[in-house]
Amino acid sequence: MGKKPKCSFCGRDNVHLFSGKDGSYICPDCIESGHLLLMESMQQEEAPEPQPKPTSSAGQPAPDFGLNLETLPRPKDIKQFLDLYVIGQEEAKKYLSVAVYNHYKRLLQPKDENEVEIEKSNILLVGSTGTGKTLLARTIAKMLKVPFAIVDATALTQAGYVGEDVESLLTRLLQDCNYDIPQAERGIVFIDEIDKIARKSENPSITRDVSGEGVQQSLLKLLEGALINVPPEGGRKHPEQEFLHVETKNILFICGGAFDGIEKKIAQRMNTQVVGFEAQERKQKIDKDNLLQYIAPHDLKSFGLIPEIIGRLPIITYLHPLDKQALRNILTEPKNAITKQYEKLLEMDGIKLSFAPDMLDYIVDKAVENKLGARGLRGLMESIMIDVMYELPSDKQTDSFEVTREYAEKKIEKADFYKLKNTEE
Ligand code: ADP
Repeated sequence: MGKKPKCSFCGRDNVHLFSGKDGSYICPDCIESGHLLLMESMQQEEAPEPQPKPTSSAGQPAPDFGLNLETLPRPKDIKQFLDLYVIGQEEAKKYLSVAVYNHYKRLLQPKDENEVEIEKSNILLVGSTGTGKTLLARTIAKMLKVPFAIVDATALTQAGYVGEDVESLLTRLLQDCNYDIPQAERGIVFIDEIDKIARKSENPSITRDVSGEGVQQSLLKLLEGALINVPPEGGRKHPEQEFLHVETKNILFICGGAFDGIEKKIAQRMNTQVVGFEAQERKQKIDKDNLLQYIAPHDLKSFGLIPEIIGRLPIITYLHPLDKQALRNILTEPKNAITKQYEKLLEMDGIKLSFAPDMLDYIVDKAVENKLGARGLRGLMESIMIDVMYELPSDKQTDSFEVTREYAEKKIEKADFYKLKNTEE
């Protein structure tokens, strides 16, 4: 990636920048200021223009938000960007990069009846909790500078009125782009824990698991593409408005779930499939320790997703469980790795902070031992670093500090593992 682009007017590197043909950029704040100035001058001329109400962009030519075929990052570029923040998960990154690239190409496709219609490819990421599903989706949104919202599918089951809740998912997306509807309409929504709204039984007549299936049905509407009435909730910009209308057909949905226990369904399917000639040989090739890599739509159905939802998630990919080496890399390699963050913070106090390699190995061992996963690394680090971060900024004598294994051990002995285990980010 080259230098981070900045707004050519105010010089800031806003998350959302719209590019001009000559390589200049403008940020939403400057657009807003420009708009206000324009409105003022128009009012002075006594020709007040009524403020246009936001409507759906459906049917109108797609506005250009800086995404055009020349500037659109290619799958390899997307993957490279993901590599900066996400450790491992090569397969998932590759699938995601291609799907996202195709999605935006589809948006840029000229509307022509005779053209091949590119279908939307929502994505399903399957992998245990804390393996980087949300991080992948968030990083993609960061790269493309499109509105992004994360919702938890389990929250949707709890409320009685499912329809309202599903719409609130779009409210989040709108909030992320200051209620700019056309922009929200090409954003990315990450729906986490989609496995939690699975039907409990494969046969709907045995268990009437209404809540899970009900939520699946209403989500389906969004995944398929529909014009949805969204309550503006907190939308200070349009207090006079009852509902905002958002078209979801161009929103990219990335779903994530751990699908605990789905390995059994995969194993069952594979065992029944592997029969006859060459069967024995194929059976031996199956990597039994990581069955998730063989996941197929049929397994999702066995797990309790309705076929219509599965049909709307044509791209299924999986994430590996993180091994020791991956956890170790997470501590130091990502662009915003936690160790780098601590170093940066103390650098601002004129202190050179460093971490002994065996201290980092120790943290990883502790995370594995206590089954804390990648999420737990931060909690462990915090327990170790709290005194350093408290004391050193006012210590005029110290200009460098190495966090050693002995130091970390002392701090960790006092840490409350129950609390660490239950720390949500
Ligand atoms: P999931 O959505 O799969 O439950 P997250 O993406 O929320 O997991 O991961 C939780 C945290 O763990 C992330 O914010 C990140 O700090 C760290 N993490 C998890 N997996 C990775 C990975 N593959 N590379 C880098 N960091 C990771």
